[in-house]
Amino acid sequence: MGSIGGVYLFRIPEGEEFISYVTKFLEKEDIKAGVVKAVGTLRNPKIGYFLEKEKRYKINELEGTYEIASLMGNISIKDGKPFLHVHVVLGDEEGVAYGGHLIEGEVFVAEVFVMEIVGVELERKMRENGLALWDEMRL
Ligand code: ZN
Repeated sequence: MGSIGGVYLFRIPEGEEFISYVTKFLEKEDIKAGVVKAVGTLRNPKIGYFLEKEKRYKINELEGTYEIASLMGNISIKDGKPFLHVHVVLGDEEGVAYGGHLIEGEVFVAEVFVMEIVGVELERKMRENGLALWDEMRL
């Protein structure tokens, strides 16, 4: 069991790439575990869907500007560095939703919430299914 460490709210400058910007923030603040949420708008986002049989992501490259209807993710360690894993639901101007694993997206607006969790160690390792995952928790 961990406990809550630092809690942060910040806005990402327009034009920055979401994943790389938040990852830089995690490195700067030395955050190794936690949760991330955000609202805002992304331009030309790329979202992935993991093809189980092929063990790879099919990447859906969306064009234009999309509302972040929901964005949630977690922070753990991969290859010795903070790793951000984010899933999104993105809405277009008609309110049509696209969802998946966020690979990248240029920020128009992003208000980000980060909650650090201290006292836990979550390290991602490559598994047979083709995904870098934590150890399972056996009850
Ligand atoms: Zn994912």
